[in-house]
Amino acid sequence: MSAHILIAGGGIAGLASALALARRCHRVDLLEQAVAFGEVGAGIQLGPNVTRRLQSLGVWEALVRVAARPEALVVRSATDDREIARLPLGNAMLHNYAAPYFCVHRADLHALLLAAARGTGAVTLTTAARVTEVVAHDHAVCVSSTEDRVWEGDALIGADGLWSTVRPRLLADCPPPRPTGHTAWRALVDQSALPASLRSTQITVWLGPRLHAVAYPVRRGEALNVVVLAEAAPAGDARDWDQSSSLAALQAATGRTSAGLQALLEAVPTWRAWTLNDRPPLTGPLQMASERTALVGDAAHPMLPYLAQGAGMAIEDAVALAEALDGGDAASVPAAFARYAAQRWQRNAQVQARARRNGEIFHATGLVRVGRDAALRLLGARLLDVPWLYEH
Ligand SMILES: Cc1cc2nc3c(=O)[nH]c(=O)nc-3n(C[C@H](O)[C@H](O)[C@H](O)COP(=O)(O)OP(=O)(O)OC[C@H]3O[C@@H](n4cnc5c(N)ncnc54)[C@H](O)[C@@H]3O)c2cc1C
Repeated sequence: MSAHILIAGGGIAGLASALALARRCHRVDLLEQAVAFGEVGAGIQLGPNVTRRLQSLGVWEALVRVAARPEALVVRSATDDREIARLPLGNAMLHNYAAPYFCVHRADLHALLLAAARGTGAVTLTTAARVTEVVAHDHAVCVSSTEDRVWEGDALIGADGLWSTVRPRLLADCPPPRPTGHTAWRALVDQSALPASLRSTQITVWLGPRLHAVAYPVRRGEALNVVVLAEAAPAGDARDWDQSSSLAALQAATGRTSAGLQALLEAVPTWRAWTLNDRPPLTGPLQMASERTALVGDAAHPMLPYLAQGAGMAIEDAVALAEALDGGDAASVPAAFARYAAQRWQRNAQVQARARRNGEIFHATGLVRVGRDAALRLLGARLLDVPWLYEH
């Protein structure tokens, strides 16, 4: 038994969904608006809850070939570089959660999902196909794209990201994403181009008033991903994930930071900026699926990147959706989508809420900041570990 599924969007959520569904014998048509598949040059952390899912999707060997395996997560002060707390990752994650903690280049993750989806032979990939219209019938869903091409399938998955076109077709009340007032400045730099003192095999997080910075290795450790998150919005287009920026613009928002962090920021040749928008946490299953339409990834639950789990939740969604549809056919789609939404909405809402709360804690000022650092010094790994998230 199988169904014919349409997917709008070929980012991490769309490709993971296509792969997961094809592996369960469904036929997939994936429509991507861009003229070519690709991802922006930045890093992505994958906790054990996500690497476990990727293993189940059959991309383990490809993932291991491109991943960096950080030894530890180290929290430092962004004002004096002093270590505040540390969580061992490497073997400790394997031991505690039976799956590793990886850091990858987004383009590498995207490319391996694309290759695996293609390799199933059950996924038809169409680029330059921007979904503009969705019409749902009792037994089918029709979508049309900018060039007046039309596709009909048994179901539609909206994997079209933060500014989703599918989402408003599912939800009568769908305000636009809200600007958070936070901006991410990000950069990728070859470790070989850095002085030895700035190269790293671990995830380092610097916490400062109204800002934090994160650096971690990707591409087997060959490159270092650097992100600075501060409470300031650049003047660019909020929909552009890849605005050109500069150290001067970054430091107009952050001011000068600790010597160690400052040296790293100055060693980075080019900066890109990314305006952060999110939505309030989900409040019910109907925000994730209804009848023959379902949402996955940022289309359903965009979140601040302060728990490093946006793509992770997209991959969890993809696996859960395919499991719900396992052995199903066209007639069973509405019931399967209802099961998927019932299973996923609270988990996604919890992660959205925790990401927001982390932002407040990371960027704390005054006495709250002093209390945070004291608690981190005292409890260290116990505060940094997230068993409810990683065990799932
Ligand atoms: C600074 C930063 C750091 C992050 N770090 C992490 C991390 O460490 N770990 C983690 O798990 N997550 C992280 N995230 C979150 C993660 O990047 C996102 O949650 C994830 O990329 C969402 O994937 P998606 O496929 O749902 O959406 P997108 O990546 O936005 O993909 C949507 C796709 O749909 C296409 N599309 C859009 N509209 C249409 C249409 N109408 N028709 C056809 N195609 C369309 C787009 O072109 C795109 O290809 C981070 C985010 C930020 C901003």
